[in-house]
Amino acid sequence: MGGKFLAIGECMVELAQAGDGLLRQGYAGDTFNTAWYARACLDERWSVDYFTALGDDPLSADMLSMMRKAGIGTDNIRRIEGKTPGLYLITLKDGERSFSYWRDTAAAKKLADDADHLRRAIEAADLVYFSGITLGILSPEAVETLLSELRRARAAGKTVAFDPNIRPRLWQDRHRMLATIEAGARAASLVLPSFDDEKTHFGDASVEATIERYRSLGVVDIVVKNGADGVTLAFGDTPSAHVASKKAETVVDTTSAGDSFNGGFLARLLDGATPAQSAAFGAAVATTVIGHHGALISPQLLPKG
Ligand code: ADP
Repeated sequence: MGGKFLAIGECMVELAQAGDGLLRQGYAGDTFNTAWYARACLDERWSVDYFTALGDDPLSADMLSMMRKAGIGTDNIRRIEGKTPGLYLITLKDGERSFSYWRDTAAAKKLADDADHLRRAIEAADLVYFSGITLGILSPEAVETLLSELRRARAAGKTVAFDPNIRPRLWQDRHRMLATIEAGARAASLVLPSFDDEKTHFGDASVEATIERYRSLGVVDIVVKNGADGVTLAFGDTPSAHVASKKAETVVDTTSAGDSFNGGFLARLLDGATPAQSAAFGAAVATTVIGHHGALISPQLLPKG
């Protein structure tokens, strides 16, 4: 069986230190990373498309060409005159990475401004994927436009998958952050939270508490990621099940661990594997990704499974 996978969010220009004061340019962003790994793990019966807004500048054009080269569809990406993509810089100090962002005027903040365009893209998809970062860059009105389309998609029987990816620096006010993450979850049929984030921001005492909270919001299927401690699956009425992480030989860079898990997991699930098989594969993908530098690693390095 094949179909259409649509990821919605922001892909940014990444600048990373390359020694001698040089910076290496790349592209990344949580929902785009997941699209990248889903594309790498799905066969050609599935299309993977990215939905965002970009500018009419050379960097936007180069980003689009990178996406197409990766086999990711860009037909839904609106170009906005005079705008540019968001950008972030990774600084390394004593082995610790820190991130500086320039994204306040990024074109992606306007991704939901054309509601008809958004509706057409979502209506054409079988699975729609978005995150708390997608919601965090939007105005309250744009959040409502996006969520009302996602609620329609869920009501129409599509899989609507949501990673809360809670990032306080995107939100001016904590109350709005938590309320919007909950509204995102209510629009979704499947959520993939990271326990660390949920514990920190919602005060969950255990993985089970995270599952209960998302269940009470009406989510059907829940995948709680917990780093090296593996994932817990709570699918429909079935009792929750734990799937161990794959032991990482070396951890080089944990950027995109959760995003790549999501890509591998969703790819297998769409392919008809059980949630437990899909989680084992997602863990194998994530372990490979954290063994290499950068958010996006070559599809050739990924497990075939
Ligand atoms: P996030 O990157 O969203 O915070 P996690 O840290 O929970 O997400 O990691 C996502 C997945 O990546 C985990 O479920 C696991 O499969 C894998 N992973 C992350 N850290 C490790 C680790 N140290 N060893 C093995 N697997 C890991």
